[in-house]
Amino acid sequence: MAELPGGESQKVANFSEKLATFSTLPQARWPWQRSLRRRILFTYGVIFAAVILLLMAAVGRVVYQAAVDAAHHALEVEAFLAANALEDPDSAYAAEFDIFKEWEKEHSDDDKLDKKREDSSHQQPAERLQQMARLFAGDSGARVAILDPEGVVVADSVYPFDQAPDQHDEPEIKAALKGVEPRSRRVDPLTGKDTLFAAAPIHVGDRVLGIVQISRPVEQVAGTIRPLLASLAGVGLIALGLAVLAGSALSRRLTRPLNRLEQAALAMAGGDLEQRVPVETPDELGELAIAFNQMAREVQTTLAQQRAFVANASHELRTPVANIKLRSEALLGPAGDDARVHDRYLAEIDREADRLGRLAAVLLDLSRLDERGAAGAAAPPASPLPLLRQVVEALAPRAQQAGQTLTADLPDDLPPLSMPVADLETVVVNLLDNALKYTPAGGAVKVEAHGEPGMVRLRVEDSGPGIPAEDLEQIFDRFYRVDKMRGRQAYQPGEHAGSGAGLGLAIVRALVEAHGGSIQAANAPGQGAVFTVLLPATDEKP
Ligand code: ADP
Repeated sequence: MAELPGGESQKVANFSEKLATFSTLPQARWPWQRSLRRRILFTYGVIFAAVILLLMAAVGRVVYQAAVDAAHHALEVEAFLAANALEDPDSAYAAEFDIFKEWEKEHSDDDKLDKKREDSSHQQPAERLQQMARLFAGDSGARVAILDPEGVVVADSVYPFDQAPDQHDEPEIKAALKGVEPRSRRVDPLTGKDTLFAAAPIHVGDRVLGIVQISRPVEQVAGTIRPLLASLAGVGLIALGLAVLAGSALSRRLTRPLNRLEQAALAMAGGDLEQRVPVETPDELGELAIAFNQMAREVQTTLAQQRAFVANASHELRTPVANIKLRSEALLGPAGDDARVHDRYLAEIDREADRLGRLAAVLLDLSRLDERGAAGAAAPPASPLPLLRQVVEALAPRAQQAGQTLTADLPDDLPPLSMPVADLETVVVNLLDNALKYTPAGGAVKVEAHGEPGMVRLRVEDSGPGIPAEDLEQIFDRFYRVDKMRGRQAYQPGEHAGSGAGLGLAIVRALVEAHGGSIQAANAPGQGAVFTVLLPATDEKP
């Protein structure tokens, strides 16, 4: 039914417009809340984007930290190698430090740093060390400084040696002199940038000649991992795109059956009870489709039953009304003058009116039972025995008159029932009435009752023609008769309420089920029908 024919979809559209006039959707705060698909997609996208961002931030941080650590370690190695090169006795770098000492002594009176800085005419005293510092720095972007053991800068690859402040207090210098891990990360006072520092002492024998200090701004390190972070972000974006595509496909798969259900429900509300939806998936949506189809079938069956009930009821009511009308018209005409005809017709009108009244009463009872459903009104617990005996005694003369044997097997110890006596009487009288009615002269009717754990089993058996197997299921339906012509007969005194209309067994089943019991019809092994009623016994004592 997925595709609705043109006329149908028009009908559905009209109906949904009509629905919209009296049932409106709650206000949506955001436009995307108006579509389940967009909702799923939005939520899915936001969650996925957040996860990817967090993941990228975590990975980026780890990568950045690893790159900084690696760069720091490389600086340490470079400092160590440079210090090693300066330690070589053949290179005579020790003399350079001595030259610097001399120069410092000469300028000791000139100890004001600011003044020293203003006067840039100072010649580099340790020329070779300065060259070495530039050589070590090369074009790596690192800055190499060579310091004397007091932390005074002797040579610097970038700045004039006498412009750099004393470094004796810096952590990497102190650590290098102590022989512990000689590295630090701090803001370089000369550049004002976050910088990585590493240092290594220059030993000649036991004497510390000086210290090599190598530094590199952290932003340089970050620059090296930027392409990696960019490709990470690219992968993240691709993953996000794929996730949104997958989310879109998923949300379409979820909402398509729901849209179909909506269309089908609207079409049903518009009166098309043939609507069914395909069961496409083995999940909750599939279950929903099955439940919808089940509901549609039940609605269709219930409606068909109700229509049949109304048709049958009016048909059954029309017969006695027609009979009354015929006779009253005759009485109003010349036939009414004949006293014998007059009396007969009046008596027949009276009987038909009775029949009409009884039918109306049964129909009312049935509709009350429908309303009450399974919750039958309970009565104080009472043994069914007195009522059963009373009914059998009352019907015994009728059986005798018809040449039938009516026997009863009713033990004294039947458990009590909470079913009202009047309801139980209707059940037993209807069943016995049918048994006597359908059993020919010379036949037998047997009533039995037995107490069983938690229930009373009632059995009415006769030796009549029995019930055709194909009708066994339906005889409890309203207005169902095996012999469709029997109901046309006029009501006979002594027959049960609604007799002949096919309502007797319907009311019996409705009463039994309203009190939590069940009823079954079968054919006796030899000949005849057997009706078995199971009624729940009550635990309370009468
Ligand atoms: P009715 O008033 O027509 O008897 P019921 O509802 O009592 O309506 O019974 C429905 C149909 O079941 C009857 O028309 C009859 O054909 C069949 N039926 C009921 N009881 C018996 C029985 N004891 N023996 C044979 N047929 C029966």
